[in-house]
Amino acid sequence: MKLFLYASVMILLLAGCNSQNRSAMEIEMYNVSSDALGTATISQGANGVDVKLSLTGLEPGYHGIHVHEFAKCEQPDFQSAGNHLNPDGKVHGLMNPEGAHLGDLPNIEADSSGKVEAELTLPEATLQDGKTSLLRNNGTSLIITAGEDDGMSQPSGNGGERIACGKIQLEESNKQDAPSNPAEDGTDQQKESS
Ligand SMILES: [Zn+2]
Repeated sequence: MKLFLYASVMILLLAGCNSQNRSAMEIEMYNVSSDALGTATISQGANGVDVKLSLTGLEPGYHGIHVHEFAKCEQPDFQSAGNHLNPDGKVHGLMNPEGAHLGDLPNIEADSSGKVEAELTLPEATLQDGKTSLLRNNGTSLIITAGEDDGMSQPSGNGGERIACGKIQLEESNKQDAPSNPAEDGTDQQKESS
């Protein structure tokens, strides 16, 4: 009887987990001219949050990539996304002994035609609720920089300007915020009060 109860509880727990389990999200990435560059697929993996990139239209070579604090990819420079996601108050850099920010990722390399196919992991992050969630407070964003992250410099690795941005948030809010006409996006300064 005890065993049966235990089994029932386990089934309920599993069912509960499943309903909360957020499936993979496909994030659209845009450059500062609102051109679509491709996607980042974000999913809960065994060792954190996996980020699978499939992009085109980047300058060949290495680029920094980070998760930032706010799901706001506003023109002209994506500064609206805030700093690197850092809920634990660490310093920047995967090579820094006192790092790294939760949102710090290894550099990506675009090939000679500007394509990126890469799979990265954010080991400390989650898509579930909590302090290290990429979806808390209406979400976060994924940003690519013009240059590579040196893994050490404060506050953000000296990667240069932000050249691409995508919003990491639940689909419903993503749709509401998505630019219906990319040409209008630069002038559309709708304020999201929160
Ligand atoms: Zn950082």
